[in-house]
Amino acid sequence: MARNFRTLDDMGDIAGKRVLVREDLNVPMADGRVTDDTRLRAAVPTVAELADKGAKVLILAHFGRPKGQRNPEMSLALVTRPFEQVLGRPVRFIDHEGAAEAIATMQDGDVAILENTRFDAGEEKNAPETVARLAALGDLYVNDAFSAAHRAHASTEGLAHQLPAFAGRQMEAELDALDKALGNPEHPVAAVVGGAKVSTKLDVLKHLVGRVDHLIIGGGMANTFLAARGVNVGKSLCEHDLTGTADEIFDAADKAGCTIHLPYDVVVAKEFAPNPPSLRICNVHEVASDEMILDIGPAATEALGDVLKTCRTLVWNGPLGAFETPPFDAATMALARTVAALTREGSLVSVAGGGDTVAALNQAGVAGDMTFVSTAGGAFLEWMEGKELPGVKALAG
Ligand code: ADP
Ligand code: MG
Repeated sequence: MARNFRTLDDMGDIAGKRVLVREDLNVPMADGRVTDDTRLRAAVPTVAELADKGAKVLILAHFGRPKGQRNPEMSLALVTRPFEQVLGRPVRFIDHEGAAEAIATMQDGDVAILENTRFDAGEEKNAPETVARLAALGDLYVNDAFSAAHRAHASTEGLAHQLPAFAGRQMEAELDALDKALGNPEHPVAAVVGGAKVSTKLDVLKHLVGRVDHLIIGGGMANTFLAARGVNVGKSLCEHDLTGTADEIFDAADKAGCTIHLPYDVVVAKEFAPNPPSLRICNVHEVASDEMILDIGPAATEALGDVLKTCRTLVWNGPLGAFETPPFDAATMALARTVAALTREGSLVSVAGGGDTVAALNQAGVAGDMTFVSTAGGAFLEWMEGKELPGVKALAG
């Protein structure tokens, strides 16, 4: 497959060059400590490679939502030491004021973090003067933050038009994985879409019916589709006002030759609590009016595994049940293990993403067995909606 973006391999000799690298350093913190350093670790390969090649590496990133105002609690100075530890080499912090002078003192191979890009109100507006100010600080631009690529900001989009632009290693891996899953996948392709509500994933569902061979719907959103088919879903989470939309999705799938799979057995309870006494498994047509569907049933889960055995590619967003509360995690855990096994065997390319989906895969202990797990949240969902992400589009020149 031909790529339409350039990578670090295409940068030529970068010794002595000032390289602006957009990373996602927006880590969660509590009491001055980074509570999850996943994003810091993800930035290391690109930053280390550029520094090893002798570039002067200036990292651009946002931190929190300061809304164009200076806010000491959202200063990237707080993240500089933690990143230095993860990178294993010194990292300087550079403020916006006097940035050019500070960068002029950097040696080849030095790494620095520029203060929060969002302290400048022009960042989120993609203002030409902000783009120009940042562009003047570098010779080359690398975007390594797929998770921020759904925003057309100065540091995520504008700069790509002002400096020679390249995808960082993280961005490259993400784009390649997503292309394999939905851009140019091997068929048959299955999509599993779960989660709480249809309304949050309407555009995802509409896009997928035209691209995949099997659309497997689970989670709370399956209830809306079941209701559209005339099933009484009792007290279940269900968007009754969207049953018309569900019908449209059924029709679109029919036309596109996409098979929609809904569960035929479910796990129900009268109260939403861990291991409730009212727990039972039943056919979808046997849900009582005082019960709610909290997971898909074991027969449906097994059937779903059988569908995946016939597929070459899977894209997965959204848990199949209320997985935070046992035993309503059963279907999601079982599916995760099946997908992991099929991926390990080499019969399935599996790409998964979404905040709760990643948490569920970690809970199942199989995140590492997937072909690719996207932690990009909003950007991942927009990509699943078939949208062109401005930060990615800009890299294509
Ligand atoms: P992601 O973050 O991976 O995109 P979502 O946020 O769309 O996923 O959905 C995850 C949420 O959906 C979880 O909190 C889960 O408890 C909830 N959920 C899944 N199935 C059901 C259900 N049957 N009833 C109520 N909530 C559900
Ligand atoms: Mg979520």
